Amino acid sequence: MYIYADHAATTKLSERAAKVYLQTAQEVYGNPSSLHSTGQRAQEVLTECREQIAAILGASPREIYFTSGGSESDNQAILSAAYAGAKKGKRKLISTAIEHHAVLHTLKKLQKEGFEVVLLPVGTNGIVDVKDVEAAIDDSTALVSVMFANNEIGTLQPVAEIGALCRKRGVLFHTDAVQAVGHVPVNVKELSCDYLALSAHKFSGPKGVGVLYCRTGAPLTSLIEGGAQEKHKRAGTEDLPAIAAMTEALKESVADMGATSVMLRHLQDRLIDGLSKIPHCALNGDREKRLPSNVSFCFEGIEGESLLLLLDEKGICASSGSACTSGSLDPSHVLLAIGRVHDVAHGSLRLTLGAENTEEEVDYLIQSVEEVVAYLRGMSPVWRDLQEGKRQYIL
Ligand SMILES: *Cc1c(COP(=O)(O)O)cnc(C)c1O
Repeated sequence: MYIYADHAATTKLSERAAKVYLQTAQEVYGNPSSLHSTGQRAQEVLTECREQIAAILGASPREIYFTSGGSESDNQAILSAAYAGAKKGKRKLISTAIEHHAVLHTLKKLQKEGFEVVLLPVGTNGIVDVKDVEAAIDDSTALVSVMFANNEIGTLQPVAEIGALCRKRGVLFHTDAVQAVGHVPVNVKELSCDYLALSAHKFSGPKGVGVLYCRTGAPLTSLIEGGAQEKHKRAGTEDLPAIAAMTEALKESVADMGATSVMLRHLQDRLIDGLSKIPHCALNGDREKRLPSNVSFCFEGIEGESLLLLLDEKGICASSGSACTSGSLDPSHVLLAIGRVHDVAHGSLRLTLGAENTEEEVDYLIQSVEEVVAYLRGMSPVWRDLQEGKRQYIL
């Protein structure tokens, strides 16, 4: 058995996107900046991609900037808003404790440059309270940045309400929608956002390509200097094969979204119900307000790392949190933010499903996790202490 259940980390390139990638690379190989017909053909394809992505997001093509992915888009949005704010004496940046490191580390860098960074807490359900955002906004606020959907626990944030609030208060709003685009409906008008980040490899497009949506009129500074590409906001010859494949993957994901999410909800329910039967465990994040693909649990008395290795031996690709933190011994900042204590946060497991997963695979996942958790607990001194009453169960 081989089961890929780590779709929040990355996805396999879809057949159609792969075909478009190869075709574009071999047939539309001109440089879109070249004046000859081969270059102009590439420019046409680039324009079509921009129009199609804009239409899907409810944006104007002029508001779509192609980047190298989610991290770059997050960096550019936050730095642009911060530096524009500083020019007006606004140095406060508001975000949440559960953001992706692409956001958190950019904010940390700005904090070192003298910006005031406020990271709002989330409830034990993994959702930020709009009232906390409202209370944090003041005249010195340059930017609010709140992710659409969390990459570790899948919780959906009240981004449309936050966007409306920011618009009303005249504060720029960025949303990291990397986990959402292609999976749930995303429309920049409904979100009232000024910036939005997306990444192709999270919806069966290629790695290393993404989009920054920047509303017309919102400040935008370039991170890469050079040629005049992307209206002087992102230099470098466009990766047209990747952009075309991303566009194809996005169209495909959006067309299949309704059916896929119904199917995923069903698998998610089955997986959550099955895993909940394991003693002393808990689902991470709100049961309802979450991506249909995400199942995240903590199991008391075990180490997530060992769990992953043993699951891998059974042919299962899973994660303990985000791919970015694996390899480090620090427990996930997201799990700590929802109130999990260190020991419990270490026993985490994230299974993220995709359209190709089946009911049979979900049943195998349940059975395998059950077996591996029981096996690890059998060897765990912490578990023995819990069983002997020398320690109190938390879950
Ligand atoms: C994956 C991810 C990113 C980073 O995107 P890359 O394209 O890999 O740079 C940013 N934010 C979230 C929420 C993500 O899941």
